[in-house]
Amino acid sequence: MALDFTFSEEQNFFRDMVRDAVNRLIMPRVKELDENEEFPRDLWREFASLGYLGLRHQEKYGGMDTDTISQMIFYEELARGSCGFAMSVIMQILMGTYFIGRFANEGIKQKILVPAIKGEKIATICFTEDQSGSDLGGTRTLATKVDGGWRINGRKQWITNGPIADVATVMATVDPKMGLKGLNFYLVEKKTEGRDGFAVGQRLHKLGSRCSVTSELVYDHVFVPDENFLGEQVGKGVQYAGEILNEVRVMTSMCALAIAKAAMDDAREYAKNRIAFGNPISKYQLIREKFAKYWAWYETSWNYSYKCAWMIQNKIPCTNECMLAKYHATEMCMYAVEEAMRIYGGNAFCTEYPPQRYWRDAKFLLYGGGTHEVLCDYLGRAFCKD
Ligand SMILES: Cc1cc2nc3c(=O)[nH]c(=O)nc-3n(C[C@H](O)[C@H](O)[C@H](O)COP(=O)(O)OP(=O)(O)OC[C@H]3O[C@@H](n4cnc5c(N)ncnc54)[C@H](O)[C@@H]3O)c2cc1C
Repeated sequence: MALDFTFSEEQNFFRDMVRDAVNRLIMPRVKELDENEEFPRDLWREFASLGYLGLRHQEKYGGMDTDTISQMIFYEELARGSCGFAMSVIMQILMGTYFIGRFANEGIKQKILVPAIKGEKIATICFTEDQSGSDLGGTRTLATKVDGGWRINGRKQWITNGPIADVATVMATVDPKMGLKGLNFYLVEKKTEGRDGFAVGQRLHKLGSRCSVTSELVYDHVFVPDENFLGEQVGKGVQYAGEILNEVRVMTSMCALAIAKAAMDDAREYAKNRIAFGNPISKYQLIREKFAKYWAWYETSWNYSYKCAWMIQNKIPCTNECMLAKYHATEMCMYAVEEAMRIYGGNAFCTEYPPQRYWRDAKFLLYGGGTHEVLCDYLGRAFCKD
């Protein structure tokens, strides 16, 4: 029997545990988290104490070393509670600490990775700049080789966890003229008295996912020692980034699936109870069609996204598949949150009701892991290739 769509007993148990934590710790606070626009440190500590920040890391550093499917289960359950909190936590687990776990020496791992897994240090990753988002080849943050290390100079924009980060993995170029071939990752700590490091620039106020805090980070000729170069060879930064891109895309699918389901579950309850022209609006065909379309797209998306997680887990090449999964799940989510807004009628426009929050939270998914124009450009080319 080669085709198997079941989760293992451990994975089901793991989902139950995460769901229970989300229901207990996040659900009662969803509105407050959105409205306050502040990073909830108490919640962070709770999730750290449950061990989840070490989901992908080895047990010897305090991690759980779980499989890819369990990681996706975690992302899906967490985003069901709060997309904003999920963004902060997933930044720590997936992008913020990956290159430290992969390349840093033992001393750095003890100093930074171990406390990060305990939640005592907050991590982030910096690709984006004012003039370069999708186009990483336009990176201008400069890494100059000096005696015993590197000097990093530049500004990074749109950095999740930026205002609270202790440590950042930064993409910088050894020469802007080299485009993608000049890019590398460097580990930089926050500037403190007595230590060179990055400074926090302008804080950005967001439409949605508001309890994950976002800012600019400024690198003003920051010195980092040679051991903070995260890689084996100069110029391989883009190749290294590619190692986690599939996971980033399927993770984004999981967040899209979670938001879409939450929005449509709420909308279904609303439709069953809202009376218009003598009937619950759920009795009208035009309303039912919205649920039917969503349901069809949701199920295909959910199954395909977990298939991609399984492919990653089994080291089966799946670049196109993960792009398709991200594209499909996110477009499905855009449909779901838009239709949920319509089902709620005028109440959707009131912040007392949830659909506007799902709608706002969901928009972010269009950018992370590749914008849909960029993904479609790549996929269209791949499809038409001779
Ligand atoms: C909430 C949030 C959190 C973020 N967190 C982080 C973070 O922690 N770290 C980080 O580094 N970045 C982060 N980002 C930045 C994110 O990665 C970028 O927004 C994304 O890469 C897109 O880049 P851009 O915004 O500069 O858009 P651009 O690349 O300027 O794109 C603008 C428009 O042009 C289109 N476009 C671009 N190129 C093409 C093309 N070749 N063909 C057709 N259309 C094209 C795009 O699809 C888009 O519609 C975050 C963004 C948001 C919104």
